[in-house]
Amino acid sequence: MTTDVPLTSLYQDLILDHYRKPRNRGTLPDATVEVHVRNPTCGDEIRLQLLLEDGVIADLRFEGEGCSISQASASMMTSLIRGKPLPDALALGSRFTEMMHADADAATDGSLRDLRALAGVARFPVRVRCALLGFDALREAARQSAGEAP
Ligand code: ZN
Repeated sequence: MTTDVPLTSLYQDLILDHYRKPRNRGTLPDATVEVHVRNPTCGDEIRLQLLLEDGVIADLRFEGEGCSISQASASMMTSLIRGKPLPDALALGSRFTEMMHADADAATDGSLRDLRALAGVARFPVRVRCALLGFDALREAARQSAGEAP
C-alpha cells in the first residue's frame, strides 16, 4: 500500500528516506530476543531482534514488509533506541503513542527525533496502527525478555 497521507514535504522526504534506506535492517545472529508482529489491517509485518546486555539495547535489527509508514516508523524507532536502556526505549514508545493519539506536547518533544515526522499520521486513525507497529514489536520483545511470554 502506498502512502496516501498528505504530510508536509519535509516530513514526507524524511519518511521516504527511512523507507528507502531503512536503518538497522537485517538480522542479528546473536540476538537475545526476537519477535514478529503483524498489522492485518494493512498487511504490515515486522520482525524485530534485540541484543540485550544488562537491560540495555546493545544492538538491534529489523526486517519487514508493508506500507511506507510502518517500515519508516520501524527504521526511525531502531535508530532512536539503539544503545538505550530498555525502560527508556519503552518510555519513548509511550511518548510516541501519545503523539499518535494527537497529543500536541508529544508532537513537539525533541526526544522523539525523526519519529516526529509521523505526527500528521495521527489524523488518519487507520494508519496509526502502521506507525505504532515497531513499538508494538518492542513492547512484545520486552515482555518476552521479562519471561512473561510463553
Ligand atoms: Zn501500513
